[in-house]
Amino acid sequence: MTHIAVLGSLNMDLVTYVARAPQRGETVTGREFRTVPGGKGSNQAIAAARAGATVSMIGAVGNDAFGQRLRDTLEHSGVDTDSLRTVEGPSGTAHIVVDDEGGNAIVVIPGANGTVDHLSPGDEGVIASADALLLQLEIPQAAVVAGAEAARRHGVRTILTPSPAQSLPPELLAATDLLVPNEYEAVVLTDRADPRDAAAALLDLVPEVVVTLGAAGCLYLSRGAEPLVVPAPQVTAVDSTGAGDTFAGALAVALGEEKPVREALSWAAAAAAISVQRAGTSAAMPYRPEIEAQYSA
Ligand code: AMP
Repeated sequence: MTHIAVLGSLNMDLVTYVARAPQRGETVTGREFRTVPGGKGSNQAIAAARAGATVSMIGAVGNDAFGQRLRDTLEHSGVDTDSLRTVEGPSGTAHIVVDDEGGNAIVVIPGANGTVDHLSPGDEGVIASADALLLQLEIPQAAVVAGAEAARRHGVRTILTPSPAQSLPPELLAATDLLVPNEYEAVVLTDRADPRDAAAALLDLVPEVVVTLGAAGCLYLSRGAEPLVVPAPQVTAVDSTGAGDTFAGALAVALGEEKPVREALSWAAAAAAISVQRAGTSAAMPYRPEIEAQYSA
């Protein structure tokens, strides 16, 4: 079985639904409140586990009720949490206000994620035993760099989702095999408006790039090969939250299984297309048989 390690964040999303977000000093009555387990690290771990890999999550939660629920959520999808630490203090939270026009405003408090600024004893061994390491940027950059460099030392493929968008230090780029930005992140990283130009510019920094393009699918570039455009299945999207994480998790599994690149991208696109047709983030992520059914359809 393919083994994927994920080094990254876990957040409890505290989501408030309200007709109109309050102004400063104003109190408004909202309609609904939900707590939704999330964080890009956790989301990608769940996507990869449901897609059929053995997954190890490296990160931290707080010693609060949210921490226990975040851990339980991973375990419920079969993710190994032996490398998930529980630290003093609160878990990471994201405070999200969604208005009736679908707009949102978000405050993220890193909490326990902020303590993940280095690798802990045992983490390098877990990374070394994986077929790929999935990374994002919701924990301190120092740990992301340390994780990528550990993977590189052991010949493990590193797949980085550069989110939230920020400039990437040269040592991180040097240890990244595959960069998977969305269109917005590709533009921020390169200052090029066209995704094709952005992908080409990113290829100067890392050997392989996939720019995800929402309903338009994705664009893959690698050094010395022809660019690939892989369309997304035509579906009716109801909630695209977490589509990028579903895509990244499934792609890591497919590449770990040594599927050819075009097939791996189509497989990941199939997984993401299922997730956008359902409400929720990790709850919307498909299990392997569903991906197989969509892929061969
Ligand atoms: P994004 O982060 O929006 O670029 O989406 C990531 C991936 O999810 C895309 O590359 C698609 O494979 C898939 N996806 C996102 N939105 C849709 C959609 N409306 N229909 C089908 N697939 C989608």
